[in-house]
Amino acid sequence: MTQWYIFHDLTDQEVLDIQKNLREIGAQHDMNGLILLASEGCNGTVAGTAEAIETIRAYLTEQFAAISFQDWTSDVRPFKRFKVDIRKEIVALKHEGILPSGNSKHISPKQFHEMIQREDVTVLDTRNAYETNIGTFENAIDPKLNSFHEFPNYVEQSNIPKDKPVLMYCTSGIRCEKASEEMAHQGYKEIYQLDGGITNYLKEYPEGKWNGECFVFDHRVALDSALLPSKRYSLCPKCGNPGDVKTACTACNAQCKLCADCLKQAPPACSKRCRHELTQNAFDKSGK
Ligand SMILES: [Zn+2]
Ligand SMILES: [Zn+2]
Repeated sequence: MTQWYIFHDLTDQEVLDIQKNLREIGAQHDMNGLILLASEGCNGTVAGTAEAIETIRAYLTEQFAAISFQDWTSDVRPFKRFKVDIRKEIVALKHEGILPSGNSKHISPKQFHEMIQREDVTVLDTRNAYETNIGTFENAIDPKLNSFHEFPNYVEQSNIPKDKPVLMYCTSGIRCEKASEEMAHQGYKEIYQLDGGITNYLKEYPEGKWNGECFVFDHRVALDSALLPSKRYSLCPKCGNPGDVKTACTACNAQCKLCADCLKQAPPACSKRCRHELTQNAFDKSGK
């Protein structure tokens, strides 16, 4: 499987043409994945045979000259279908005018590894709380975002010093492209972003400054420090966040994994159907 993002101005017609071409490649090669297209660029994660990956990479490289890919192998089929969706943004900050200018400083995993150990640096995680809950870098500030578009507000209300270096990271780097621009906009002078994100760091430093697992937005749920699909987490059938508490479904007795929060709230259910059955039973009993 392979992953990429690129910021590149596209006209509406170009977006439609690329969507059509990508859909054709996906269908021809029986691929699965999710690709987002917008007037600001393209962001995607896809899986398929080596030949399929080769074809889609060749097409994208022809389309967007300077595009780089991150590759993985996975035993887990990461997506059910192959989707190419058109959105307003390829990563939703919902703050108009904040577009990567290409001026922010990208630093390599090696530079990041060195900088994160400096005392004068603020380390900032730009991901959401359901991601930071299962893994972060040592000493990182966790803004506990519910969604990335809360980031501008968070920065405004934070007391992160503006005159000290800020070292930021996200999963693959795309959110930092906008997060760094937003911080520059708010007066931060020295901003560094981890090139290729956490996954790129783990390739070089599986035993480095990272603790826990790295959430990913597909069926692998999370990656361990060796970048293998998580053995620990699966998506909680109730809330959709990563869960690691093994339990038995109250309705059908199947083994399932829930998150600790949902487990506290109600008797465990392995699926929507079983949850429905349980609430129905409770309702019937209370009705008597
Ligand atoms: Zn849950
Ligand atoms: Zn069940």
